[in-house]
Amino acid sequence: MTMPASKDVVFVPEMSADSRVRVFCRTFNAIGEFEGMEVDAYIVFTGSYIVVFDTMLCPEDVSIMMRMVQDEVGKRTILVVNSHADWDHAWGNAYFRGEHTAPIIAHEYGRIRLQSAEARTELVNFQQQYPIFRNVELVPPTITFNQHLTLYDAQMSIELFPAPGHHRDHIAAWLPELRLLLAFDAVENPLPCIESAEAVPSMFATLEHFMALRPERVLCSHGKTTSPALVQENLAYLREIEHRSRQLLLTRRPTPRELEHASALITYPLDEVIASATEPVDRTFYGGAHNANVRYILEWLMS
Ligand SMILES: [Zn+2]
Repeated sequence: MTMPASKDVVFVPEMSADSRVRVFCRTFNAIGEFEGMEVDAYIVFTGSYIVVFDTMLCPEDVSIMMRMVQDEVGKRTILVVNSHADWDHAWGNAYFRGEHTAPIIAHEYGRIRLQSAEARTELVNFQQQYPIFRNVELVPPTITFNQHLTLYDAQMSIELFPAPGHHRDHIAAWLPELRLLLAFDAVENPLPCIESAEAVPSMFATLEHFMALRPERVLCSHGKTTSPALVQENLAYLREIEHRSRQLLLTRRPTPRELEHASALITYPLDEVIASATEPVDRTFYGGAHNANVRYILEWLMS
């Protein structure tokens, strides 16, 4: 496969009963590490704006998505938001240059990440492995913020705010009139991915903040769910890791070698974490993510 086919990016009407919020799903049908991986993007219609939340894997993905709404743009101004600078969320940014130029809004640190040497190296590696990334260019956001940024409109406003923990530049969006939270990768089914030991307190604070908003619906980028209960479940999962880690640390301090198998160390296997999962779970990916979460929480508690 060279170009993304239309079937790789689909409109998912069952994810949003409100026609002002459209959910699109990108399936990465690559062989190997990311086989069958899915990521969602959203288009929100306010009276004056069309806000595109995340740009998926490549500019062609955005083109497919925008074609599906082109008849409804009318006089609305198109705005773009990057939830964070990860490859599955911001690598389609190049669509919004040239004839489709639109402002791209993100956290200030997302701009730094997209301009980093690490991002360039990662892109070269992906381009060598998968042809779909051939037209990807690292296009940094053009409007950045550090604290809060609100898009006001008569019927519906959109509040953007930092939601670090998965990444330092990660933001979330709160649509108060709809009581809808766009959580992106801060909430994930079956489990969220913490960036590092230093990011652990931020992840807890982000999830506590989400709970305090009392959302009626929550959309997250991976895992096909709209349930606000997932916020509580993700928080309970991380608290359980913290609890078992504290128990372990009462008796001894693990060595760096032991920390490589952190989930075994606190006797919290992936099977127990996903015991109530109703959908098949990518055991390789989430097993690694779970082990890393335990390791980071242990390291945070030991620091
Ligand atoms: Zn993601």
